[in-house]
Formats: sequence, structure tokens, C-alpha cells
Amino acid sequence: MGGQRHDGAGGGGPRDTQPPWRSPGPPHSRPNAYRDLDTSRSVNACIFCRIVSGEVPSSKVFEDDHVVAFMDIAAVTEGHFLVIPRKHVETLYGLDSILAGHLMAVTTRLAKAAKKALRCDGMNLYQANEAAGGQEVPHLHLHVIPRYKGDSFGIRYNPTKPPREKLDEKAAKIRGAL
Ligand code: AMP
Ligand code: ZN
Repeated sequence: MGGQRHDGAGGGGPRDTQPPWRSPGPPHSRPNAYRDLDTSRSVNACIFCRIVSGEVPSSKVFEDDHVVAFMDIAAVTEGHFLVIPRKHVETLYGLDSILAGHLMAVTTRLAKAAKKALRCDGMNLYQANEAAGGQEVPHLHLHVIPRYKGDSFGIRYNPTKPPREKLDEKAAKIRGAL
């Protein structure tokens, strides 16, 4: 999706919860090439489960008993890859802490390897949950996006300045749900 460059400087611009690298258009108005069937409930139809099983080809970066990493078929920068759990977990909400820890450990290791191998200038991790969060493939995945000076990757956002009371209120609300 088109958008402003994300330079980490906290600049302005319209917020957009869609994946920042998608082509312009209203949320989810585009045909979803990745869902050939209703994948949201069916593991057999899930494109990433089919990659895990080898039924669908992929360019693998890494695999172990719990995690698989492969190149993104629509790379937004050179070297963009995905890290996924082998088991079909749809979103972050369904991830247990042991698998979450392992997924993050593997991702960190792979990000370091990518930095070394690709000599990129920077690196982003991105992870989307649910349609409103911009998730298109309903099998949990972490995007590892190598960044290069002047590349076209961007995240659009529109920072606000909530008063401290509001921040405290939201923090307390989230704490209360732990
Ligand atoms: P998201 O919008 O966060 O759900 O991202 C899904 C990602 O999966 C996109 O970046 C797609 O390009 C990628 N993708 C979909 N199908 C494949 C595939 N068969 N092999 C590799 N990457 C894929
Ligand atoms: Zn799956």
C-alpha cells in the first residue's frame, strides 16, 4: 500500500491500519490472491499450512520442529521474509508464551543473519492481526523487512497527543485485562 516513508521520526501523515506495502484502495477492497478458499477455519486450505507441508513451493530460509521461515512472494524490499509457527495459529491471540518465545528467538537470529548477509541499512518487524489490523493470510506470521536508504516501504500514521490522564486510563484498562 502506498504511504509515507516510515523514517522513525514520528512524522505526520494519515494513519492506515492496512499493511503499508499494499496497493492503494479502500481496506480489503482488493481481491485477495492469497486466499484461494476460505482459509480462516480450514487448515487444509491455509496457504501457509500448505507451505509448511511442502504442498506449495517456497524459498525456505529456516525450519525447525516448530517454526518455518520463507521468502515473501511479494517482497516489499529485497530480502523480505516471513517467520511462522508450523502449527496453524491464526493470530497473536492464539499463541502460547512458549511458542511466542521461540518464534521471537528464531526471528531475532534470522534478522541478524539477514543484516549480515544483505548489508541492509535497517530492519523492520511487522505483524498483523485480523482484517482491521491488515492481516490477509490468517496464519500467524512475522514479516522481517530489510530496509535500504531510499526504499519505498512506508507506514502511514497520524500521531496524536493524548493527555496523561487518558494514557493512564488506557494503561490501567489494559493492566486490568491481564
Ligand atoms: P499479511 O498482510 O500480514 O497477512 O501478509 C501476508 C503476506 O504473505 C504477504 O506479504 C504476501 O505477499 C505473503 N504471501 C502470500 N502467499 C504467499 C506465498 N505462497 N509464498 C510466500 N509469501 C506469500
Ligand atoms: Zn495455516
